[in-house]
Order: sequence, then structure tokens, then C-alpha cells
Amino acid sequence: MRITHALRLGVGAIALALTVTACGGGGDKAALDNAQDGKLTIGIKFDQPGLGLRTKDGTYSGFDVEVAKYVANKLGVSPDGLTFKEAPSAQRETLIENGQVDLVVATYSINDKRKEKVDFAGPYYIAGQSLLVKADNTDITGPDSLKGKTVCSVKGSTPAQNIEKSYPGTQLQTYDTYSLCLESLASGAVAAVTTDDIILAGYASQSPGQYKVVGKPFTVENYGIGLKKGDKELRDKVNDAITAMFADGSWDKAFQDSVGKAASYPTPAAPTVNRY
Ligand code: GLU
Repeated sequence: MRITHALRLGVGAIALALTVTACGGGGDKAALDNAQDGKLTIGIKFDQPGLGLRTKDGTYSGFDVEVAKYVANKLGVSPDGLTFKEAPSAQRETLIENGQVDLVVATYSINDKRKEKVDFAGPYYIAGQSLLVKADNTDITGPDSLKGKTVCSVKGSTPAQNIEKSYPGTQLQTYDTYSLCLESLASGAVAAVTTDDIILAGYASQSPGQYKVVGKPFTVENYGIGLKKGDKELRDKVNDAITAMFADGSWDKAFQDSVGKAASYPTPAAPTVNRY
């Protein structure tokens, strides 16, 4: 009896495991095996101008998209073998863990908590948390002026966690995406939106004269490429690709053509890839 029960449980567990892996875009295959077949599924943002944006006609643009394409190409995958999947901030680890994406290139900060679940290549860019307010706002000048104010950020993001932890007295409103925060800022439901400077600059440039980024960046956000925990071979290859992108001028060009244009942002110096 006991054996039969254990067997049944075992079969159930296997069936469940099969269902979970079978539904993913990347499936249960390792990323490098997918790349070998000429295919990769990459998680990006769909609503961040200059970084990861899906246009109405289904094309993708932005710095993260260019980084994703470059890395994919180095892994032997051409742009027509790429599938971009939306990776909202709170879902990035799960998408990687479940094999629904092979890589995540989505303004994704490397940190210890996330490293418990996924690995990172990079960093390929260093951003910093900042604030976006309406152009005529004068009372919010930096994170220390947020007390009693309603501020919007995104679930599962480092900026939201930082506000909760370090700026008590701030009313934090969280949504799934930053574009929803922008709607709340436009309507006056929130006084500010907080996330990385580079993301906010992209939104500000979409509506000239309407918003401004205020204060100096008050965190350090190292953008990494997220991948399955323990896949060292993949991480090494992605690190090599990022290093090559810095070295051959493609990184500068990608930045100028994306964030540079979308937010008239100067191109910073490339960071150093950290092969931990
Ligand atoms: N870089 C931060 C993070 O990884 C904020 C941007 C985002 O939510 O994508 O959480």
C-alpha cells in the first residue's frame, strides 16, 4: 500500500514537472542547446523607451534589445531566431527558473537576493535610482523630500524595495510596469515615479516639457544579463560577448542609437565585466 502510494506520488510529481517545463518558450532545454538549434528566447521590457520597447507593429527597439541581439549573435543565433518575451520586474527570476526564457536583458540589477535564484553575466551598464516628477513640481528635489508623498514604482524592483527600506513615511504605490506608474503621474494620483535614471530619462523624453528627472542618482544599479543558476558555460560565453561588445565599438553605438537618441543621454564609459 505504502509503496503504491509513494509510486503514485512520484508519478504525479514527474507529470507536474513535465507540465511545468513543457509550457516554457525555452522549454526544458539548456540555453546553449537552444542556441545550437539557432533559437533563443530572451526576456526584455516591452514598455521602456530607449531600453526595451515593443512598437505597435511588433518590432523591438532599445539598448537592452541591441545588447540581446549582439549576445545572441555571439552565441550563434541570428535576429530571426530570437523570440522576445515580456519580462516584468517581478517575474524575471521565475521566467529564468522555469526555462520560459533563456536570458533576461531587462534593466536587471545584479544583487545577492536575486543571485540565490539566478546567475548574472555582466554588468553591461551601471544606472542609479532617481525620481521623475511633473515639470512644475518644486517640492520634490531628492529622496529625502519624499516623506508624506505618494511615489510609484514597480513590484519586485530594487527601487521599490529601497523606498520601503530606507525612506519610511513615503507612501509607496506599486504596479507591474513603469508605464502604469507614468499614467498615475500624468493624472496626479502620485507625486513621483522612482526607478533607474536611465529609464526615467526615456519616459521624460517621450513627453517633452511635461516631466523632469530630479536629484542625483542615489543607488548603484549594475545591469546584468540573467540566466539559469549554475550554467557556468553560458555565463562565461555571455561575459565574453559583453566584453567583445565593449571592445569593438558596438556597445557605444548601441547606446548612442537607443538611449542616446531617445533621451539625449551622453554615452558613459563601459563598466568592467565582473567574472565572479
Ligand atoms: N534595475 C532595477 C531592478 O532591476 C529597476 C528597473 C526594473 O525594475 O527593471 O529592479
